[in-house]
Amino acid sequence: MAATVIDGKAFAAQVRGQVAEHVARLKQDHGITPGLAVVLVGEDPASQVYVRSKGKQTVEAGMKSVEHKLDAETSEADLLKVIEDLNNDPSIHGILVQLPLPKHLDEDLVINSIAPEKDVDGFHISNVGLLGTGQKSMVPCTPLGCLMMLRDHHGSLSGMDAVVIGRSNIVGKPMAQLLLGDSCTVTIAHSRTKDLADVVRRADIVVAAVGRPEMVPGDWIKPGATVIDVGINRLDAPEKGEGKTKLVGDVHYESCAAAAGAITPVPGGVGPMTIACLLANTVTACCRANGLAEPEGLTA
Ligand code: NAD
Repeated sequence: MAATVIDGKAFAAQVRGQVAEHVARLKQDHGITPGLAVVLVGEDPASQVYVRSKGKQTVEAGMKSVEHKLDAETSEADLLKVIEDLNNDPSIHGILVQLPLPKHLDEDLVINSIAPEKDVDGFHISNVGLLGTGQKSMVPCTPLGCLMMLRDHHGSLSGMDAVVIGRSNIVGKPMAQLLLGDSCTVTIAHSRTKDLADVVRRADIVVAAVGRPEMVPGDWIKPGATVIDVGINRLDAPEKGEGKTKLVGDVHYESCAAAAGAITPVPGGVGPMTIACLLANTVTACCRANGLAEPEGLTA
């Protein structure tokens, strides 16, 4: 039977709709407008596109959007001052520093200077610790989006065997923590894993977050398993015309879809969920800051 295609684009639109509804209620009932500040250092073209998209979707959800675009040569002290001011600004509930930062800036130091309760990317060491110990935290957006899609598709994940391929701090590790929190039996595979095929074949849930185009073939997938493809890889696509490119994930879509019970496509799967979860985290942070009930279903 053909796999169910998990439509991340439609699901993200639904999440953004929930966020917008909650924002409208916050404004109407409490006179509060959630605010998100995005800090971009330098002129990396991909980062500029992301920041523009984040700002646009923040405004569309009815929230306040602030962008700080700093010169590539900005000193660490100046960047930390911008973050300190945002930490102290009561109209800002979420702060995101777009990564990667230019080489002369210490990424860990910068991220850990964000007030943890405003750290809507969930990368601050306090949030990492809170997530790891099963306490209320800000959860990294991409793994949160994956978890939402898995819960939506399966209901309970309890007792399922999950394999996360990739152990990065922004995707692999928090994804594994979230799956553990939902009572999966979790294996984290990585570049040194022996017999990756064998590990993946045991999984009811496979989350691929590697950054290697189409590296997971269909014959690694247990029949009926759910495949969440986090990878975003750009390949040349001469078949589309000269100089054209296409996006592919970390799994080989056609062969994996033939074996899987459900699968996320690339593009249109995990990608759109990431910004939707950023908006969700901003509303959550705003509610927590004001001692109000958090929106249902938008946190881990
Ligand atoms: P990363 O480079 O930080 O981590 C990659 C991980 O893959 C590492 O832990 C490494 O051990 C593992 N790995 C490398 N080669 C491997 C191999 N041969 N076998 C098994 N594991 C291997 O990458 P990341 O930041 O976690 O991102 C992973 C992918 O997800 C990238 O394609 C990235 O573009 C994409 N991504 C997508 C979103 C989104 O919004 N959809 C967000 C973040 C990252």
